[in-house]
Amino acid sequence: MSKHNMFNRKIKISGNLIFDTAFHIGSGKEGELATNMGILREADGSPILPGSTLKGNFRAFAERLSDHLGFEACLLDSSLSGKNCVSDENFRKTKLNEFQELKTEDVKINWLNEKTCDICRLFGSPLQASRIFFSDGTLIKWDQRIQIRDGVCIDRDTETARPGAKYDFEVASAGTVFKINIELENPDDKDLAIVAAVLSEWENGFRLGGFTSRGLGRARFVDKKVEYVDYTNFDQLKAYLLTKQMTEAGSLLDDNLRSALQVKEG
Ligand SMILES: [Zn+2]
Repeated sequence: MSKHNMFNRKIKISGNLIFDTAFHIGSGKEGELATNMGILREADGSPILPGSTLKGNFRAFAERLSDHLGFEACLLDSSLSGKNCVSDENFRKTKLNEFQELKTEDVKINWLNEKTCDICRLFGSPLQASRIFFSDGTLIKWDQRIQIRDGVCIDRDTETARPGAKYDFEVASAGTVFKINIELENPDDKDLAIVAAVLSEWENGFRLGGFTSRGLGRARFVDKKVEYVDYTNFDQLKAYLLTKQMTEAGSLLDDNLRSALQVKEG
């Protein structure tokens, strides 16, 4: 097995996500004349916060912050970012054969590292797996209320309300709290800096889900706990494998963010 596939370090971030306003996390898209404007729910009716929703939001923040931190982001579109990366479809088409002809795993990894932006390397691209994982939120506080709000259909050409065209959508009530878990596999210093920066945004408050332009989905991340296991440290490895004990990471994330900002400062 290649060394690249081995675990050397794993980081676990946990905390609570508090919604200060009502929120809508559904399967439909805002502004569409959708037939289904319900929120995602469990069989018992309680709201669901999918890991994929969290990851999408987290990645979008990472992309928007990358330039300020001195990191590369292809934004999945070289015509927008001016940066080539295997995630960009046009670039991928021309480079895919080259990649497929590479013989060993080590050569493939080096090739990917050269041709992939910092964001895709952490969050995944069509040619490489993600190294950051978001679990579905675990509901820990909810007042059992789902409300129905009504929206007015907007005419895209005139940007005015279309008379008589209305739709309903569901929201889960303010004050709902989910416990969330994020895991990072073999993060390098850059990865840790990116994650620290986005967590700061989440702690400062952000918007999640649909209808955010109507003030919905205001959330903040609290009670952050960061732990890690260093697989090359035998005591840590033993504690983790035998008793699931991880080591308190202290200021590991913020230290890496500070270093990245110092490099950027020059
Ligand atoms: Zn990329």
